[in-house]
Amino acid sequence: MTGPFAKKDPLMKIAAVHTHILDHRLETPFESASMRFDRRQHCLVEIVCDDGTTGWGECLGPARLNAAVVEAYGARLLGRDPLETEKLWQELYNLFRDQGQRGLAVTALSGIDVALWDIKGKRFGVSVSALLGGRMRESVKAYATGSFRRDGVDRVRDNAEECAAHIAAGFHAVKIKIGFGVAEDLAVIKAVREAIGPAARLMIDANHGYDVLEAIELGKGAADCDIDWFEEPVIPEQLGAYRAVRQGQPIPVAGGETWHGRFAFKEPLETRAIDIAQPDLCGVGGFTEMRRVADMAALHGVRLVPHVWGTAVQIAASLQFIAALLPDPPRRRPIEPILEFDRTHNPFRQSIAAEPFEHEDGIVVIPDRPGIGFTPNRDAIEEFRLRD
Ligand SMILES: [Mg+2]
Repeated sequence: MTGPFAKKDPLMKIAAVHTHILDHRLETPFESASMRFDRRQHCLVEIVCDDGTTGWGECLGPARLNAAVVEAYGARLLGRDPLETEKLWQELYNLFRDQGQRGLAVTALSGIDVALWDIKGKRFGVSVSALLGGRMRESVKAYATGSFRRDGVDRVRDNAEECAAHIAAGFHAVKIKIGFGVAEDLAVIKAVREAIGPAARLMIDANHGYDVLEAIELGKGAADCDIDWFEEPVIPEQLGAYRAVRQGQPIPVAGGETWHGRFAFKEPLETRAIDIAQPDLCGVGGFTEMRRVADMAALHGVRLVPHVWGTAVQIAASLQFIAALLPDPPRRRPIEPILEFDRTHNPFRQSIAAEPFEHEDGIVVIPDRPGIGFTPNRDAIEEFRLRD
């Protein structure tokens, strides 16, 4: 075909899709209510184009399994136009719809989508936040995530000391892990509130370790500790239980790190199972799907606080998304988004970036470099590569 409707040759084509599994064995393992960590493992996605442009992404969740799914998708991407992010997203999602819909099918797709947006930004010489419609802010307040249960220490004292150190380092807020048992958790919450003082913000995350009755008991017991949100009180499949917890105790309920794709967010938002939605950019479906979920949350008046649990690649991508988030509601002094900032031990989290994303006084500057603003440190990626 010729003329105005003829298909044009793409500006660039995808030449290779690589995965990098990063791995570090922890000297001191730690636990959430539902998981034990003795290693840190994350899966990066690197997409290389025929003109040499390279895009980086990351997948939330089990690194080896994500890498396998990325490789399965990758064969479909060779020779394709990386700028067609929406078209490729739909095509890859359709590929595993019958067995996918959520979980690895979407977390692997997320890593690919983030890498494609990185390429798109580099192709046009602008940051992803510019592509998303413009930067609303140049920096963001970070909150410190930590306070897992560590082996062989007094958890009450350990968490209180750790949180006091985060506040002393400049963070305005800390999030602690609960879900180990109501009485012990309440002792931890009260000790942490005491240690950080009345002005610091405090959030609690049960990693779906409670049932409804325990969650309600905990929420009532912690009501006087001035807590901003109660994250994942119950398992994420039980939306009726979420609603019961929300109605049965006074602390706002947050959740969403395990809800992948817009379909997974539909019922929690429409039935108001949560007060705060926490989609993870590298799990929910990348920038392409995160935008839709953010629009859905705004439609229902549910606050958005992205979940972030990964390396510098995920931090970079999340910063770009946060930069472009519209104030909701729009007002003279809007509610500013906040960045989840993992403070647990992970030696490769920042070292794989040539320009790391560190905080200063609890504030993280949002880069305005092309793409997601991540520059790899290849030596560190090699150093932490999984070796069997
Ligand atoms: Mg969480």
